[in-house]
Amino acid sequence: MAKPIVAMVGRPNVGKSTLFNRLAGKRISIVEDTPGVTRDRVYAEAEWLNHNFTMIDTGGIEPERGDIILKQMRRQANIAIETANVIVFIVDGKEGLTAADNEVATMLRKSKKPVVLVVNKVDSLKEEDNAWEFYNLGMGEPVTISASQGLGLGDMLDRIVENFDPHASDEEEDEYIRIAMIGKPNVGKSSLINKLLGEDRVIVSNVPGTTRDAIDSYLETDEGKFILVDTAGIRRKSKVKEEIERYSVIRTYTAVERADVCILMVDAQEGITEQDEKIIGYAHELNKAIMVVVNKWDLIEKDDKTLDNYKKDMQSKLKFLKYAPYLFISALTGQRVHKVLQMARMCYDNYSKRISTGILNDVISRAVLMKEPPVVSLKRLKIYYASQVATKPPKFIFFVNDSNARHFSYERYLENQIRESFDFEGTGLQIEYRERKM
Ligand code: GDP
Ligand code: GDP
Repeated sequence: MAKPIVAMVGRPNVGKSTLFNRLAGKRISIVEDTPGVTRDRVYAEAEWLNHNFTMIDTGGIEPERGDIILKQMRRQANIAIETANVIVFIVDGKEGLTAADNEVATMLRKSKKPVVLVVNKVDSLKEEDNAWEFYNLGMGEPVTISASQGLGLGDMLDRIVENFDPHASDEEEDEYIRIAMIGKPNVGKSSLINKLLGEDRVIVSNVPGTTRDAIDSYLETDEGKFILVDTAGIRRKSKVKEEIERYSVIRTYTAVERADVCILMVDAQEGITEQDEKIIGYAHELNKAIMVVVNKWDLIEKDDKTLDNYKKDMQSKLKFLKYAPYLFISALTGQRVHKVLQMARMCYDNYSKRISTGILNDVISRAVLMKEPPVVSLKRLKIYYASQVATKPPKFIFFVNDSNARHFSYERYLENQIRESFDFEGTGLQIEYRERKM
């Protein structure tokens, strides 16, 4: 189940980054061969009392003029309302209540999203009184903290997790396969979604609920029940490039986080760009099922080799994504559009696949018989047994004699053997090696 998303909103200098850094547990590691991911500290994984959640810092660059601050805060609030399950509204206890705080509070109240009001920079007990005036915001009792001293954080986290929706993992919701359409603007994401929704099928839209985005579309087909999430969202104009970038990262990331299957959409005329590599990198790191759809195929002049060459070229650019299938469509003419959900279903089934221990071990023993592990530091790897311990994505544990005898090329060989024996197209596999004294 997807993790809740907590977004921090507040004026420049109230201490958002300080708080963010305090709370950020293990940040998402940068997978070596995934280019350009998570250099920017926009989000972090956090944990409190067994609740895992994703934190987002909506604060961008620091504007100098007051009127710009206000504009930027409106945007921050909007992106938080759009994407978060819980909003943390941070104000400055030393500076006191400002007009901008009032305005943002009004926006947040109207959204009906749960908001935790946090007064920062209350560095000592005698400063607690500074919090009183913030009752005027009409957002209930403020939590006082000192981000720099690390005070009050536990109480604040309690308040945050209290607001997580206990029904978020409804069984009803679980019947649906969540698909995030990701890709640059104008590649045809909304065209494809409209086409899919427009086909003869039963459409259920606007299922009530608090945490669902307005842009989610529900549909049922022969393939199953799906929720389609368009990450395009509302495109607000901003003159600041960095800010647009930050907001599109937030939108894409939160959509990916909540999805089972991610469809990377690419414009056939443009091919894979660096930005594509980056956004599909999120999906890969977050262990989602992944497929690539090349749209606007109608605009490409082709002969019998075009498709193959095109695919090879893309695969060489997305090396970390060997498992993803490709589909070439035209959302405009409808060519192969009916295959999109079939393929998404296939990816999802493989993503949720479970292999029994007996069959898995037969395959591994046969693989070892065919090709013996190499000798590494005078030792030879011995695999006692293997077991699949999780799905979504499939995770395997190999119990071995000595981890020092591991060798990456042999590990790759074993993964390939698993992939050849069972269909895992569309999903990454996690394989962990664990020493076991026998
Ligand atoms: P942001 O712009 O909201 O991300 O704010 P920053 O985290 O960059 O903090 C702005 C300034 O406030 C920095 O100089 C911080 O050291 C300071 N600051 C942050 N938290 C606290 C706090 O709890 N107490 C005090 N006294 N200063 C703080
Ligand atoms: P989004 O920003 O990714 O949602 O892209 P849109 O769905 O808004 O499409 C952007 C533009 O590309 C629109 O003018 C569409 O009509 C056009 N478009 C979308 N799909 C196709 C396609 O398969 N072929 C062609 N020729 N144009 C397309």
